[in-house]
Amino acid sequence: MNDVFTELRRNIHRHPERSGEETGTARIITDYLSKCPGWEVQTGIGGYGVLATWRSGKPGDHTVFRAELDALPIQETTGLEYASVNPGVGHHCGHDGHMAMLCGLAARTPAIGGLHGCISLLFQPAEETGQGAAAMLRDEAMKDWHPSRIIALHNTPGHPLGQLICREGVMLVASTGVSVSFQGTSAHAAHPELGKSPWRALQTLADQALQWPSTLVPLGNSAKVTLAGINMGGPHYGTSPAAGTVWLTLRAYQTETLNMLKNQVAMLAGQLAAGQELRYEVNFTEEFEATVNQGSLFREIRDLAKAAGFSWVEPDRPWSYSEDFGRFGRIAPTLFMGIGSGEQQPALHASDFDFPDELLAMGIDVLETIVQNYHTG
Ligand SMILES: [Zn+2]
Ligand SMILES: [Zn+2]
Repeated sequence: MNDVFTELRRNIHRHPERSGEETGTARIITDYLSKCPGWEVQTGIGGYGVLATWRSGKPGDHTVFRAELDALPIQETTGLEYASVNPGVGHHCGHDGHMAMLCGLAARTPAIGGLHGCISLLFQPAEETGQGAAAMLRDEAMKDWHPSRIIALHNTPGHPLGQLICREGVMLVASTGVSVSFQGTSAHAAHPELGKSPWRALQTLADQALQWPSTLVPLGNSAKVTLAGINMGGPHYGTSPAAGTVWLTLRAYQTETLNMLKNQVAMLAGQLAAGQELRYEVNFTEEFEATVNQGSLFREIRDLAKAAGFSWVEPDRPWSYSEDFGRFGRIAPTLFMGIGSGEQQPALHASDFDFPDELLAMGIDVLETIVQNYHTG
């Protein structure tokens, strides 16, 4: 038997939208929330973001839960009857499930009884491109917004269903994409010495950047540089090309380390261009700050989860992917917590990944437990 949240999730799953284009998804969420008594719903925040607020009318804390609206530009291969009807787009990060869990909390909140303070549900757009959280924070609706805490639950394959995974401090690393383009002059392939090829600059930049994690990053910190792509020329055998681009992904446990690596890229690109008489351009894209779990909030949630009998594990190092949830750390203490989606579950962003429906009720229980803790008694 499928409950209302399973139906809701599957409906969202069937109609996935790319980052920044979540108009239909926002409408599904808004339609659902409008049926939940007591919730005030604001739309169009930082793009298609939706903010729902429940006010008890009594003084107290303001707790915020975050879910994401966007899907991924990946063709779904699950073959499920509720598979994506939008070619080349699919919910392979489980954001459909996160939205349904928050809707589950919206449905349950009015019945909890004796609540004080205020609860918000934040459905952010464009998480996968690292732009949505920042766009929401720039919006007038969130000006002077200083909630007591902001919490995100993200499903996590490879862990038993419903297990909570969390650590104090850095939970998810900071990262950014960077493209460096060099422009020289072309030449006849018979006389490459007469042109200015970008090749040596591209090669040197990639080679050196790949070594920075061991040559520049202090012991105890951590960073990773990945060569995402390199492009120059093509099957035009008569020509020595004039232009080329290298794409790198930079990652670090700390936002400061990431900024240091970004400065290194800009500096080295400038030096190489000057030394070889090339023009150059550096662009950073998909920038994510580190997602940090604030100490006292972490301890409160850990104690609460253990007392409530949830399975709880603490990874000994940050996870190596990034999330734009880290941005919200600028306005409130934040906590990002994994919730196991099954040990045999395909990885996040895999084309056959699907959020397990069995996790919905477990996730809603976790959210409700947090609300009870901060807003009753
Ligand atoms: Zn994702
Ligand atoms: Zn995600």
